[in-house]
Amino acid sequence: MTKMKPYLKRAWAEVSLSQLGRNVKIIKELNSQTTGIMAVVKADAYGHGDEQVCKYLYNECGIGYFAVSNLDEAVAVRQYCPESEIFILGYTPPEYAHEIAEYNIIQGVISTEYAVRLAENTPVPMRCHVKLDTGMGRIGLKHDTPEECADEIENIMKIKNLIVEGIYTHFAVADSDTHDNIAYTDRQEKFICDTYKILENRNIKFEHLHFMNSAGTCYRNNPASTLARVGIVMYGLHPDINLEIPEGIEPVMTVKAVISHVKTVEKGDCISYGRTFTAERTMKIATVTVGYADGYSRLLSSKGEILVHGKRCKITGRVCMDQLMIDVSDVEAQAGDIVTLIGKEGDDCITADELATLYGTIGYEVVCGISKRVPRIYTGGND
Ligand SMILES: *Cc1c(COP(=O)(O)O)cnc(C)c1O
Repeated sequence: MTKMKPYLKRAWAEVSLSQLGRNVKIIKELNSQTTGIMAVVKADAYGHGDEQVCKYLYNECGIGYFAVSNLDEAVAVRQYCPESEIFILGYTPPEYAHEIAEYNIIQGVISTEYAVRLAENTPVPMRCHVKLDTGMGRIGLKHDTPEECADEIENIMKIKNLIVEGIYTHFAVADSDTHDNIAYTDRQEKFICDTYKILENRNIKFEHLHFMNSAGTCYRNNPASTLARVGIVMYGLHPDINLEIPEGIEPVMTVKAVISHVKTVEKGDCISYGRTFTAERTMKIATVTVGYADGYSRLLSSKGEILVHGKRCKITGRVCMDQLMIDVSDVEAQAGDIVTLIGKEGDDCITADELATLYGTIGYEVVCGISKRVPRIYTGGND
């Protein structure tokens, strides 16, 4: 484990690279031989740290394809993994097309107009995959029939300095098992696969066709897909809390902090801002060195629990910017003790997914939200 200066031992995240590796191994087994992994490392690898994650995936897991949200992220990944393929899922202002080309990055193309503008801004050929909007309603070519879609793709292919290497789409509800939603995803999948086939019949065969996200990979993987764009499940979290993920996939990130202060309060004493918590009896209260500026949401005030020596202790009153208080009446706790906000301790475990449910969001937002102030400590890199 990387050594931390003692004064930094306030709030930190441990990122288990060996667990990341185990998750990837399981995901690879889900996929057919014809489907590779495009590791989604946008948003600083969902808050896990894109440099370490990319290097580990590339060097130790044999993953050579990365997806990011923008050009800055793409250029960073180019530095970490000079030989990798890098795909930008989202929007790059067309004025930067020459940089996309210069760094040998692949851009998602979301409309003919956008394709034209990109091409105008690069003197050399730029690689791209064309995005189809088959039901997400976000970006991409939108048509009633795959034939019309194929026609537009053919026109995009005629644009000088654009090299179209694939087509892709994005599922809106692959993380749902209701009959209606499964049918919806079936239609999205059929639309893009039909478009691909129509182009094939016109003697246009793209190297890549991709539509699976984590949920697609776990619940409906399809050998027609040349790449699976896997994000959340690689980090060990659920695309949807209500659906199981394959056994052995575990969270990669653990978040810890320390107890700075322990005191006894009497019945009637108030804890934290707003006096939202009043002790109803004599209690032992510990102050923990983490707050909403670290990404531990204020919405967890009086709701969240923290593991202290393997036991759950409830937050008393409001989460502050840098600190919060918990009820440690039933555990041995003293200043300097390490506590777990997200992760395993003893037999118990608090997951990002569990915290997310407490305040009406998803695990994705919890891990992405662990702020820059929280140092990432990497473990298990050489397992
Ligand atoms: C973020 C993203 C993904 C990854 O989704 P997960 O649910 O995290 O697997 C895949 N494709 C696109 C287009 C995305 O924006």
